Amino acid sequence: MTSQNEKPAASLILGGAPSLQKGPIRVSFEFFPPKTPEMEETLWRSIHRLAPFQPQFVSVTYGAGGSTRQRTHDTVKRIHDETSLVPAAHLTCVGATREEVDEVVRDYWNAGIRHIVALRGDPAEGQSKYVPHPGGYAYASDLVAGIRKIGNFEISVAAYPEGHVDSSDLAVDMDNLKRKIDAGATRAITQFFFDTDCFLRFRDRAVAAGVTVPLIPGIMPVTNFNGARRMAVMNGASVPDWLAKLFEGLEDEAETRKLVAIVAAAEQCVRLRANGIQDFHFYTLNRADLTYALCHILGLRAMPVEGSKSI
Ligand SMILES: Cc1cc2nc3c(=O)[nH]c(=O)nc-3n(C[C@H](O)[C@H](O)[C@H](O)COP(=O)(O)OP(=O)(O)OC[C@H]3O[C@@H](n4cnc5c(N)ncnc54)[C@H](O)[C@@H]3O)c2cc1C
Repeated sequence: MTSQNEKPAASLILGGAPSLQKGPIRVSFEFFPPKTPEMEETLWRSIHRLAPFQPQFVSVTYGAGGSTRQRTHDTVKRIHDETSLVPAAHLTCVGATREEVDEVVRDYWNAGIRHIVALRGDPAEGQSKYVPHPGGYAYASDLVAGIRKIGNFEISVAAYPEGHVDSSDLAVDMDNLKRKIDAGATRAITQFFFDTDCFLRFRDRAVAAGVTVPLIPGIMPVTNFNGARRMAVMNGASVPDWLAKLFEGLEDEAETRKLVAIVAAAEQCVRLRANGIQDFHFYTLNRADLTYALCHILGLRAMPVEGSKSI
């Protein structure tokens, strides 16, 4: 099924359709906190390379169970202190009391960080099902409300075009998204998806449900198809047959997989753009090259970074 206002797909990329659409394109990039000095170098090289696209913000994830609390904080702080980029800190409810989470939020506020991506988080290690921490924030909507009490943050939350795996149906899932927005969230970023129609239907349902905050598609360019399929199964994202077919037989062809990944993700971005999407959030996995190409294909051009202290 295709969305009603969709333009013909033929030669969208070569025809320059992205830049012909009305309104500016805005991007944001997601990184994870590095574990080793080598990973740190890779991360900073990627930040350096992508900064000229002037992202709205760059976000840094929070490891399962709060395992990266210090590393997330350090990375966010360094981006804030040493670059002209706007960092957003991911934060979850898992494995911590409200007081502990509030302390992290206050630390961010005192460090000048003004954007938090507020999440419930996945079950703590060793648990198959999510159980709220006694004395902790139970769900993302509770966390959003808690953050609001501490400071006037910009707050992004997660959204699921195909529904969160714990939601009994799409209506329950939409009610939860609305709860998070009512609690004070200012933007929703989606889980990655491969079926663009799912996102377009989700957007239509959200608008019909009265959601007015920006809904940003989360784009994950896939080079490791088998790994992505495993993640998709865990996250409840469907994997279209055509995508599996594209990567068939390329297990030992890393370079070709990269080229195929660009084509698949570019098609997704261009279709979204053709359907009026202006904001794109890229799951970079701390690598710049695919995201760089996608920003370029969307019509953005790398601009010199002004006022940057280190990049
Ligand atoms: C953009 C994005 C970034 C992410 N970043 C991270 C990260 O940095 N670190 C990390 O660990 N994980 C991250 N995740 C994954 C996320 O933590 C998981 O998807 C998690 O399972 C759900 O988080 P949530 O914030 O969507 O939860 P919630 O919005 O709280 O919803 C989770 C489930 O609980 C249900 N629910 C909500 N409220 C109630 C209630 N009162 N009673 C009963 N059920 C309820 C909802 O319907 C839903 O099924 C990210 C996901 C996205 C999309």
